[in-house]
Amino acid sequence: MATAAAPPPRFLADVYEAASECNKCSLCQATCPAYVTNPVEWETARGRVALIRDAIEGRLELRDIADGPLSTCLTCDNCVAACAPRVPTGHIVSRARMELQDQEGHPWRQTVALRAILPHPGAMRALHGLARVTQRLGLFALARRTGLLAWLGTAGALAAQTGPLGKRTAYRLARDLPPVTPPVRGRIGFLTCCYANLASPEASGATMRVLLANGYEVVVPRLGCSGLPARTLGDREAMVDMALRNANALEDVDVDAYVGDVASCVGHYREYGDIAGSDPLAGQRAKDVAARTALASDFLDRNGVRATLGPLRWHVTIDEPCSLPIDGPERGAMRRLLAQIPHLRISDLDEAAMCCGGAGTYFVRQPERSEAILRRKFDNIRATGAAVVVTENVSCLTQLRAGASRYAPEVRVMHVMELLDESLQWAERRRAIAS
Ligand code: SF4
Ligand code: SF4
Repeated sequence: MATAAAPPPRFLADVYEAASECNKCSLCQATCPAYVTNPVEWETARGRVALIRDAIEGRLELRDIADGPLSTCLTCDNCVAACAPRVPTGHIVSRARMELQDQEGHPWRQTVALRAILPHPGAMRALHGLARVTQRLGLFALARRTGLLAWLGTAGALAAQTGPLGKRTAYRLARDLPPVTPPVRGRIGFLTCCYANLASPEASGATMRVLLANGYEVVVPRLGCSGLPARTLGDREAMVDMALRNANALEDVDVDAYVGDVASCVGHYREYGDIAGSDPLAGQRAKDVAARTALASDFLDRNGVRATLGPLRWHVTIDEPCSLPIDGPERGAMRRLLAQIPHLRISDLDEAAMCCGGAGTYFVRQPERSEAILRRKFDNIRATGAAVVVTENVSCLTQLRAGASRYAPEVRVMHVMELLDESLQWAERRRAIAS
């Protein structure tokens, strides 16, 4: 007897085939940070994908799995590393969140942030000014004490996690950079992450100095948010709009490559072709940005460090951002660069590629789960005995710094480019003493 053909997918046709490739082997279980801190079936990639497929085929609604299977996934894709058919669970969950918001509407505070603030560099600049005034008047501490920060939701939690903002943003630091070290090897457009611009400007400053010291001219175009938060929160329209805005903003920037120092943000730029490539006006520009974008560590690793690195007698361990492509050359680039610093001792970190629980706004949306994942991360960090943990993502930097303050105050958290910058400065000082 012939079997009835499966009905066509009700929605999410673009990920239905990928979701159907799960063979239920369960190898993804042990790699999932959400599952290892809450071992139930729907936390696994297998469980989440099966439920999303049930929704696509009409056996349940997406809203039935919004709390739990859709909300607790970090979209980190660590499960993909263990998955033979490479089921892209993080991407499938992101698409399911978008579909759910298309069906049920977007929360208003999220809409204001994603459409009225993040795409606009001017609005971000005004926000920095406002935050600085608030800090100077002591109102930030008052807002924290009175619970106003908590009332502000995601924005308040991000402000609390980030802590006091520095006087100078990354854009401001870019005005006082040293000259490029000749001979010039090329010209870079620096992709400033809107959050790193406020939360870790010193890391971006270090990245630009390292590129200059290695013979790359650096230009710093004013950009809005890459659109990654819109993707993780589920607003597809806002995500496409931000990609098109930035692609247009980069149109007249005459450079050989675009380089950023925030792994998740750079990874998102590299998807601009898929996100906005079909736009009749700016699609080709979006594809061009995607093709010419690289992460700073990968860029330097591939092109070679030319500047002289000075010795650092430090003991470090490396926490790789989970947003690095599973099979990409970006994996291992940080280690290959750091291995070139004389006397630097590098210890392996258990579960190095597992998410730290930051994952953009995950630590706000799932605070208890995020804390459990972070605690586990610091158990592993402390076990290395390292004094410094190195990463390459602003969300990891702020999350790990928050974790260090609670679980390992003796451990310093640094961006990989800050370490290289420190090493270059040592070499420079030595040269000055010797001359
Ligand atoms: S994307 Fe991350 S959190 Fe989600 S199922 Fe995979 S490993 Fe788990
Ligand atoms: S590892 Fe991949 S194929 Fe195996 S159960 Fe997990 S998602 Fe499915």
